[in-house]
Amino acid sequence: MKIGVFGGTFDPPHLGHLALGKAARETLGLDEIVFLPAARNPLKSRRTGTSGADRLAMIRLLIRGQEGMAASDMELTRGGVSYTVDTLGELQMVQPAEYWFLMGADGISQLDQWRNTVRIAKLCRLGIAVRPPYESEDLLAKLPAEFEGKADLIEMPPVEISSTDIREKFARRKPVHGLTPPEVLRYIEEHRLYQD
Ligand code: ATP
Repeated sequence: MKIGVFGGTFDPPHLGHLALGKAARETLGLDEIVFLPAARNPLKSRRTGTSGADRLAMIRLLIRGQEGMAASDMELTRGGVSYTVDTLGELQMVQPAEYWFLMGADGISQLDQWRNTVRIAKLCRLGIAVRPPYESEDLLAKLPAEFEGKADLIEMPPVEISSTDIREKFARRKPVHGLTPPEVLRYIEEHRLYQD
């Protein structure tokens, strides 16, 4: 079994996340992608104002009807700051499998701040989605030594969407069409998220 673990804040989840999940599944031949919203990302100074329950519910709407995609509340249930090394350890215990930890190329520059990357490199491979302005050629060379030979690139057409942009558009009452599925937009409106 080959599983892609897709960690993030998903505040809110959007079509860029979905595109990465689909590209990872195809490129790496994964059986399943598990979206894992973080309770708290140790490297993001902004604390999410959106509850874990809302972010998980929106992920479920984002991936509804998509083959081989699931959402997990593991990090939300564990609570506190979410460390990838703990999550991968728990996943390997619950369901031993070949794991890839998926991320956009922008995440590489922060890898050296992650807790216990040596153990992470033993628990999984990295699946890195090429994302402008980063170029495929440079990416693998930028990885910390422990991930040498333990990372795969995921080529995907660039999707210029970020959660920050969606939150700002909502707050300023600007059009948000085409950034995340209508079901997620409806959820945001019904739950009055990102209003200010
Ligand atoms: P924010 O704008 O709040 O920082 P984000 O849109 O980057 O959020 P996260 O939940 O922080 O979303 O991202 C989770 C993962 O998804 C990260 O590894 C990030 O690189 C990746 N990602 C986010 N948006 C895209 C996109 N448009 N294309 C490719 N990868 C993406």
